[in-house]
Amino acid sequence: MRTLLLILSAAAVLSAQPRKLKVLISVDMEGIAGVVSGDQLGPGNFEYERFRQFMTQEAVAAVNGARAAGATEIVVGDSHGNGENLLIEKFPPDVKLIRSWPRRLGMMGGIDATFDAVVFIGYHSSTSNLTGVRAHTFSSARLTGVSVNGVTQSEGSWNAAIAGHFNVPVVFISGDDAAIAEVRALVGPLESVETKKALGFHSAISLTPDAAAELIRTKTASALGRLKSFRPLQIGGPITLEIAFKHYRVAEVLAYLRGVDRFSPHAIRYQCRDMLEASDFLQFLTHFSLNLEP
Ligand SMILES: [Zn+2]
Repeated sequence: MRTLLLILSAAAVLSAQPRKLKVLISVDMEGIAGVVSGDQLGPGNFEYERFRQFMTQEAVAAVNGARAAGATEIVVGDSHGNGENLLIEKFPPDVKLIRSWPRRLGMMGGIDATFDAVVFIGYHSSTSNLTGVRAHTFSSARLTGVSVNGVTQSEGSWNAAIAGHFNVPVVFISGDDAAIAEVRALVGPLESVETKKALGFHSAISLTPDAAAELIRTKTASALGRLKSFRPLQIGGPITLEIAFKHYRVAEVLAYLRGVDRFSPHAIRYQCRDMLEASDFLQFLTHFSLNLEP
């Protein structure tokens, strides 16, 4: 009886404490409702200023969904283009935003083992996918494929593996139908919102921004409400990383480095200890230039 009372009082103390729920929301732009071409995707293009508002609206919807599910700490990573798209003043004051590049771990910059869940907003399919609006992997201009242990990766599955390194599950993805199908195939049955169906590389049939945002809010909340049903994507080391480039010279010059194996004219292979080392290698490749200033 005494033991039972002790257990009951311990349970009461535990349930009285506010439960910690720390969420990272990684936001890309190609998968936002209505985005179909470069016209929406970068500064100077004629629809960009409007579409960064829609991107912000979808990100804020995910924030509101997370708060409804009891999130106690929310970090939002602006992970498209220059990393300076989201309108920071539109977010609630208790949210923190990660902006600009370079940053360690790329689109997952800021993640560590203190997080409980990751949410993907506005994601797109990979450069290896036959379908998907603006399908590419990290750099549409430079890379034609990224694989881990022989398995082709999308940005979503790669980022899920980085989160998995810290034992953090991805619970939700929004984007076009191709992006969702591709990530689910490797990561598992994430909660999702299909913002549009791809009709081609530069065309889609899309929800309106308001409709997409409302779905994202409710589905993010329901995903976080059943957090225990998601598993982190854990890829044990060592990891064989393969990267294929659009052009020859990158592969040629990288092969000067010991440990880099140029196994085809356009592609190299590199053995990494774990996903963090793989991420550092890829971030170095995509951000290094001898012209870097300052
Ligand atoms: Zn992007």
